Amino acid sequence: MKTIPSPAKTPNRRSKNHRSQTLPAHGNGHGSPGNGHGPRSEVVAWLSRPKHNLIAGRWVPSIAGNLFDVLNPADASVLCRVPEGRAEDVDRAVRAARQAFESGPWRRMTPSERGKLLWRVGDLLLKHADEFAELESLDNGKPKAVARVADVPLAADLFHYMAGWATKVEGNTIPISVPYAPGARFHAFTLREPVGVVGQIIPWNFPLLMAAWKLGPALTTGNCVVLKPAEQTPLSALRLGELLPEAGIPEGVVNIVTGFGETAGAALAAHPGVDKLAFTGSTEVGRAIVRAAAGNLKKVSLELGGKSPNIVFKDAGDLEVAISGAANAIFFNHGQCCCAGSRLLVEREIFDDVVAGVAERAKKIKLGPGLSEETQMGPLVSEEQLARVTHFLDQGKADGACYVTGGGRVGDRGYFIQPTVIKNVRPEMSIVRDEIFGPVVVAEPFSGVEDLLSRANATEYGLAAGIWTRDVSKAHRVAAELRAGTVWINCYNVFDAALPFGGYKQSGWGREMGHEVLEHYSETKAVVIGL
Ligand code: NAP
Ligand code: MG
Repeated sequence: MKTIPSPAKTPNRRSKNHRSQTLPAHGNGHGSPGNGHGPRSEVVAWLSRPKHNLIAGRWVPSIAGNLFDVLNPADASVLCRVPEGRAEDVDRAVRAARQAFESGPWRRMTPSERGKLLWRVGDLLLKHADEFAELESLDNGKPKAVARVADVPLAADLFHYMAGWATKVEGNTIPISVPYAPGARFHAFTLREPVGVVGQIIPWNFPLLMAAWKLGPALTTGNCVVLKPAEQTPLSALRLGELLPEAGIPEGVVNIVTGFGETAGAALAAHPGVDKLAFTGSTEVGRAIVRAAAGNLKKVSLELGGKSPNIVFKDAGDLEVAISGAANAIFFNHGQCCCAGSRLLVEREIFDDVVAGVAERAKKIKLGPGLSEETQMGPLVSEEQLARVTHFLDQGKADGACYVTGGGRVGDRGYFIQPTVIKNVRPEMSIVRDEIFGPVVVAEPFSGVEDLLSRANATEYGLAAGIWTRDVSKAHRVAAELRAGTVWINCYNVFDAALPFGGYKQSGWGREMGHEVLEHYSETKAVVIGL
């Protein structure tokens, strides 16, 4: 039974809509960063400037002139306000992208030139890495140090990696036989061409990185884009938009519209002028995207939710390593990872030790505002997510699960939640079945490989899995049987721009990154010449 209301339907989101204001107000400053750890002056100055949408190379207010608040989740202060783009703004952005695609310089540019511009985007991200890390931390809540070593370099690396593909997306020559034309000769080959105008809708958990995952492959293959960041975290995408002309990306190639999913996002998904829609977010909204896309049968790729099993066998070797790995698998990014190892499956003989070890680590995690140097885990991204996660925690208690550690909110300011380890669970509990998207792991014992596989695959999701064992044959056998798009063996959360990432089952359609993603952003044209 799904007990959690749709994120799109919670009262909190509606109340945020109500905070919309009209121009010329443009935010009330940078808000309080919390605990006296202030942002650097360039970030403060940037936050205090009016925020607009990027359309056809210009920064413009929304047509209706509405703005909405962007909050710092560490203390709920207002960081700034951004335009509340609606259908008419999306329409304007789609037209700008179409114009840029059909008559701008982007399509006439050589692949080599296009690649060099993308490389420069990566360089500019690295040049402004500290600033981006701070913005990301303020907006999303994650520790700045984590954003600085993970989010920003991974985003830069994605652009660098994709820059190389601009010159390498090739067609084939194909020897054809044509049985009804005996004696005729043909020269047949394929061209790989951009799809056209691409709509991209991204979530709030890795705002900059998700923008990079989306923009990199779309641009390297020559498409033009309308990007809608998540309402909770629009800032790094807007700042990235400012760097694009500096890198030399022509106007209209990337358009950015901030706004709400139900309005701006839905309008983008349904827009008849969009040829392809790429979405990352919840499975529930993914279904709505597919329905909306049916109107003009636009191509759709989806990166959705997960409930990934992290499996520890009794022959894992150094248990401390596996325990740290299990803690990292769930607590990294506060559990707000689609691939979080949120189901810890441990071989019965070592179950108590592993669960106790993960709980010990959970207790030691230092919570605080993202800008504080001591902080290891920041707040959840929003009041809505706090309500969602605490609802799951309450439900698990009511269902009779045993909370080894954690289980509730921390303090009453900001959206902090205790890292939580739960055992004595049953398969039908919502904490076992549903994606919680918080620092909450449910632990289950298993006995032998067969029992393990039936538990691990007992989910509608199929995004990722982890295996800890020193038995290489067993590792391979189990990896082959897991219905998941990524399997990490004796490691977890290892990402690289060259590695395809995406889901089996209801975790999505298609893959991000690697060369596989390029399939989603290019059309194949078969050309036949009679000789
Ligand atoms: P979400 O509610 O699905 O939102 C994702 C994006 O979709 C946001 O930009 C949102 O806009 C927009 N949106 C919401 N309703 C929409 C609609 N009716 N039509 C079009 N767009 C709409 O998800 P979230 O709460 O932001 O993110 C958490 C979820 O994302 C988790 O389930 C997680 O597993 C998944 N996720 C998956 C991956 C992956 O790679 N597989 C990566 C990250 C996250 P607003 O925010 O403005 O409403
Ligand atoms: Mg925010």
